[in-house]
Amino acid sequence: MITIKSPREIETMAAAGRIVAATLAVVAQHVRPGVSTEELDRVAEDFIRSHPGARPSFKGLYDFPATLCTSLNQEVVHGIPSPRRVLKEGDLLSVDVGVWLDGLHADSAATFPVGKVSPEAERLLAVTRQALAAGVAQARAGNHVGDIGHAVQEVAEGAGYSVVRELVGHGIGSAFHEDPQVPNYGKPKRGPRLVPGMTIAIEPMVNVGGAEIRTLDDKWTVVTEDGSLSAHFEHTVAVGENDTPPRILTKPV
Ligand code: MG
Ligand code: MG
Repeated sequence: MITIKSPREIETMAAAGRIVAATLAVVAQHVRPGVSTEELDRVAEDFIRSHPGARPSFKGLYDFPATLCTSLNQEVVHGIPSPRRVLKEGDLLSVDVGVWLDGLHADSAATFPVGKVSPEAERLLAVTRQALAAGVAQARAGNHVGDIGHAVQEVAEGAGYSVVRELVGHGIGSAFHEDPQVPNYGKPKRGPRLVPGMTIAIEPMVNVGGAEIRTLDDKWTVVTEDGSLSAHFEHTVAVGENDTPPRILTKPV
């Protein structure tokens, strides 16, 4: 079921979104060679819980054990923070985080370079960021979910990359995952119609190689089938009234 949020609910989600954005900024300050993904997770959880009423959305969601998903290089999403995963110069680290505040969630992700990364990795980050921006720009009343996916796909595939198809963006609100599903591919004017007050998480996962993915034996970590690099950027947005651009609720401040 697609839920429409009141202006007041959207303000609460924006408050959650500001904590999400600040969490990613704090994590980014700690991203450097020699740091473990578990250390980053601890920094993030402490930071989120320092805000009254806020808690990490992911911890316990479908029994996920941590505050962050930390996914390195060929890992696409859902990597589990670990003291044994230590960042190295040249890695790409995708960090996904959600915050629950006063009954509502916000969700965002970003991929960070660890030290100096390859030109291909730099290009992947730029393209995936552009793909997210193109998708967000389509989140307007009167458009359809397919317009978002189409815009994401055009940017990613236009650059010679591929989009992951099995994992999608989603509605978000009092439940972390709500309808509609928001694929990173699609056709214009297809899928559910966007209406004011819808809140959705748009989250392109872009692979340098093929679109195929598989899940590791830990039952969580999703990797590219061909071992190619992957990046992930995500924002939670609110669809505005007719003719107004979407409001990015997880925008960095
Ligand atoms: Mg997310
Ligand atoms: Mg999400």
